[in-house]
Amino acid sequence: MNCIFCKIRDREIPKEFTYEDEDIMVFPDINPLKPIHLLVMPKKHLKDFLDLKDKTLLEKIKNIIQKMIKEQKLEDKGYRLVINGGGTQIVDHLHVHLVGPLGGV
Ligand code: AMP
Ligand code: ZN
Repeated sequence: MNCIFCKIRDREIPKEFTYEDEDIMVFPDINPLKPIHLLVMPKKHLKDFLDLKDKTLLEKIKNIIQKMIKEQKLEDKGYRLVINGGGTQIVDHLHVHLVGPLGGV
């Protein structure tokens, strides 16, 4: 499978991880929209949000996103969570964008 995020997971493409455990990985977007732009994703290749059926995995993704928001000190600075899907995504490996600070709001 020719998936860039699977290649990053498998260390075929070098990448510094912001967070990693057995199920989840987080690394900075290569083309950041804001000073903080992280991609949070399952290591397992799920191609779309509709493929996310595992409650335990969903809970883990939520917990790691919350941890990243706190660690990056975005709680009160404005942030946005985005999942592109339904064909609008560039990379077909489910990921959540965490973008901030947004300022003002
Ligand atoms: P999307 O699939 O539209 O949600 O967006 C995919 C995101 O992955 C884009 O924001 C890209 O900048 C980002 N991206 C693509 N390749 C890499 C890479 N090698 N390392 C980090 N981010 C990447
Ligand atoms: Zn993949």
